[in-house]
Amino acid sequence: MAAEKVPNIPLPGTRGYPKIGLGTFTIFEKTGSNDEVKAAVRYAIDCGYRSIDCAFAYQNETSVGQAVNEKINEGVVKREDLFITTKLWDTHHNPANIRENFLKSLRSLNCGYVDLYLIHWPFGFEDGDVCFPRGDDGKVKFSDHDYMDVWKGMEKLVDEGLVKSIGLSNFNKSQIERVLQNCRIKPGNLQIEVHPYMSNKKLIDFCSANGISVTAYAPLGNPNRTWAGDTDPIVFEEPLLKTIAEKKNKTVAQVCLRFLLQRNIIVIPKSVTPHRIKENFDILDFKLTDDEMKSIWSMDKGKRFYAEDIAKDHKYYPFHDEY
Ligand code: NDP
Repeated sequence: MAAEKVPNIPLPGTRGYPKIGLGTFTIFEKTGSNDEVKAAVRYAIDCGYRSIDCAFAYQNETSVGQAVNEKINEGVVKREDLFITTKLWDTHHNPANIRENFLKSLRSLNCGYVDLYLIHWPFGFEDGDVCFPRGDDGKVKFSDHDYMDVWKGMEKLVDEGLVKSIGLSNFNKSQIERVLQNCRIKPGNLQIEVHPYMSNKKLIDFCSANGISVTAYAPLGNPNRTWAGDTDPIVFEEPLLKTIAEKKNKTVAQVCLRFLLQRNIIVIPKSVTPHRIKENFDILDFKLTDDEMKSIWSMDKGKRFYAEDIAKDHKYYPFHDEY
């Protein structure tokens, strides 16, 4: 499938944000090796993916960068055809060090500039490069850097041309409103959890009303997450989704992703399995009917798989609010 066929969502400063991208979280965690990330990114680019989502905290920026540069050197893509997203981690919120911390990511990626740079979470952890700094009591140590000051540092990266656009991840409505009221450059994108069990409708409506595009993380409800509870529902086992998938001659994963595309949401499913990487990209040749969309909407339980409980006592923890 040609990359040109993937629709873009307009994003200021960029040539558009492709609606389908490759997620890369847990690839490192699963194997302890980044070879798998590199192979997945290389394969995804060959399949036609042009957007790759990574983060400092995923510890895979070097491998993503290697894969991207290999594909550029092989003549498969040009840098400007690609859309690379990475994220400022919680331990990097010190406003004095935003630039330096961003440069760590950019050096690892080695791709000249970043298309979209997100604040990964609104709360900060103790400054440093250890992603989860813990005290003697085992609890993660917080910092109280204000995300508004972090945002000002992000704006300067745009001024310098180091990043094309900036956005937020895991912010709630009142936090986004505060950024909108005090920013010089508006956030262009919000990355949040969205899948059939978590519609996030109110927050997404708020973003649409404010011209902020939305990217769905865990668009398949991350079925293989290591922290799944015994009674957690699993998207792939839902009879309703199986029925729709059979009718369409598609898989449940494809139906989940298509549901989000039709809501005008960007999807970044993660896979290291070649046939799934391909499958997740092959979602442009069918359409869900209004009734099918309605029945998937009815599965919403407000079920969050990424609650980030370790930060629930932080003053900027986003999920105490309804949305
Ligand atoms: P996903 O919903 O993308 O699920 C990924 C899991 O589903 C993997 O275990 C993968 O297995 C499996 N899978 C992928 N495709 C298929 C398929 N077609 N059929 C069956 N199983 C499949 O979860 P993620 O949590 O990874 O979210 C996607 C991306 O979003 C992340 O990788 C990351 O880039 C981003 N993210 C951002 C967060 C944030 O805070 N901003 C938080 C969480 C994620 P396998 O790889 O073995 O094929």
